[in-house]
Amino acid sequence: MIQKKICMLGAYAVGKTSLVSRYVQSLFSDKYHSTVGVKVDKKTVKAGEDEVTLLLWDLYGEDEFQKIQTSYLRGSAGYVLVVDGTRKETLARAVVLQNRAEEVTGKVPFVLMINKADLAAQWEVDEPALAELAGRGWPVFKTSAKTGAGVEEAFLTLARGMMGLSASD
Ligand code: GDP
Ligand code: MG
Repeated sequence: MIQKKICMLGAYAVGKTSLVSRYVQSLFSDKYHSTVGVKVDKKTVKAGEDEVTLLLWDLYGEDEFQKIQTSYLRGSAGYVLVVDGTRKETLARAVVLQNRAEEVTGKVPFVLMINKADLAAQWEVDEPALAELAGRGWPVFKTSAKTGAGVEEAFLTLARGMMGLSASD
């Protein structure tokens, strides 16, 4: 059985935990749980010919990443950078986190989820900024943990990337 560790990365309250529960349990809750620790959820998907079990590591607590970045990230085959589309500063934070993650994991696949797409009317993150990242080769997805839009596609793209498959395979 192939298992791959994936870390959820992003600023406070961008929707990391919500995206995992949407993807794994098809659930969304408006309640905010600012708990402490690491939770690992599993989901098995088919990527090309193979089944791969994704181990989704989610940290909770405010700005927790600073403290346990290395141990949290070590062994990750990929990671998810989450941005809250309604808070522009969370995009800058994702860029910083990408740099830190790469220091620990080396160049492994990742996806950028611009979350809260259901609130698009309130978005502060602008298209030129996203186009610039896409131009650097970042896989950018607009997601909503609330409606589920874009979520499966983004995680599947990451799973395929970790299995060495390209978009056309
Ligand atoms: P985390 O700190 O990154 O794990 O963020 P959470 O998943 O706990 O979400 C923070 C808050 O944003 C919660 O109140 C969620 O209900 C809300 N939230 C998360 N994703 C979405 C989304 O896609 N749309 C909307 N409208 N709210 C969301
Ligand atoms: Mg959380």
